[in-house]
Amino acid sequence: MDFKKIRSDFPIFSKIEQMGRKFVYLDSAATTHKPQQVVDSIVDFYTLNNANVHRGLYDSGEQATALYEGAREKVAKFINAKASSEIIFTSGTTESINFVAQTWAVSNLKPGDEILLTQAEHHANLLPWQRVAKQTGAVLKFIPIFCHPELDSGSIQINSPEHLVTSRTKLVAVTYISNVLGDIWNKGQLENLIKNAKVQGAKILIDAAQAVAHRKVDVQALDVDFIAFSGHKMFAPTGIGVLYIKSDLHDQVEPYKLGGGMVHSVSFESASWAKSPHKFEAGTPAIAQAIGLGVAVDYISQNLNFDQIAEHEVFLYKKLLSELVKIKKIRIAGNISEAEPHGSMVCFAVDGVHAHDIAGYLGGKGISVRAGHHCAQPLVKSLGFESLVRVSFGVYNTEQDVDTFVTELSEVLKIFGVV
Ligand code: PMP
Repeated sequence: MDFKKIRSDFPIFSKIEQMGRKFVYLDSAATTHKPQQVVDSIVDFYTLNNANVHRGLYDSGEQATALYEGAREKVAKFINAKASSEIIFTSGTTESINFVAQTWAVSNLKPGDEILLTQAEHHANLLPWQRVAKQTGAVLKFIPIFCHPELDSGSIQINSPEHLVTSRTKLVAVTYISNVLGDIWNKGQLENLIKNAKVQGAKILIDAAQAVAHRKVDVQALDVDFIAFSGHKMFAPTGIGVLYIKSDLHDQVEPYKLGGGMVHSVSFESASWAKSPHKFEAGTPAIAQAIGLGVAVDYISQNLNFDQIAEHEVFLYKKLLSELVKIKKIRIAGNISEAEPHGSMVCFAVDGVHAHDIAGYLGGKGISVRAGHHCAQPLVKSLGFESLVRVSFGVYNTEQDVDTFVTELSEVLKIFGVV
């Protein structure tokens, strides 16, 4: 893969540099930039094909429908779904998870049933289940994430999560890659958890928001029932996301929203639903954004390769880590062993300096990082942190980005008297 060429596909970098501003973007876990092809697809849709979908019996109406449904086919292939009817377009990961919570979960869970999560969930995969627990009497159980006493401070560990699966476990809803810690699963651990949960008849939901731009997500290999992710974290526009629902469950899941475009027939008193995916997509969808997502999938398939993305990110990650560990007052949140690096992100705190002060200083120097609790407040607190700086990588980042970050970080730490 030619990473220089890949970076040049993302127009934001050259445009901002042409304006004479420094632009070191290290916040791809929040949202990724978009390649020119994706930007063009939005402009093309509104200039050439704008129409509603599944309605107009005229050229642009048919073209818009073909592009929208074509995007669904591309996403299905991208995550190895058996059929495109398993792909439901939503506004993002948050909506996808709330969808499952307020449909399948509220109608299938009873008092005493268990929902198994990790302690590393983003609020989007925690709060919907807290609500379901209140509504149904189901109980939330958490796979502990803890600092291993024999490893470096800040190292994290999950131990035999399958031991938490019981005959009452009805749902395992866990993140694939944490938005704070990066990879949390040891090799084979998630697969083993899924296998054990399936034996007990539990359903599996994976939050793949942080995974889709960094590793191959294969719904059949993982053997999951639901997968949620957002387009904007994989080079596509905001406002579009995916909920994968395995075909076997289509009849057990009620529509999340009711309205136009999702019915088989309607009388004044009652209605019956069309088949999936239409049953699950009431109202006018985010058409241009879905088409943009299809183009982002094409971009990944035609230009990127997940093994090489991982290699590139691990290279940047190790380079950054080798500098961070030299600074005594830095505490890294995550497994910092060289054996299994996360690659896509590093979170850290500096004793005596607030994460927002660091991020604010860096922002003033043209470096974008995120600071705070990263919508994973219970995790950050349970690991003994108040607030963390997060550096996260995308396929367009360079060694130079890491060098610039490290130089400016040591400047801000000097100002605060830390180094
Ligand atoms: N889960 C994880 C792991 C995330 O990182 C995010 C976004 N930060 C979400 C869920 C929510 O995604 P969105 O805001 O796009 O719905």
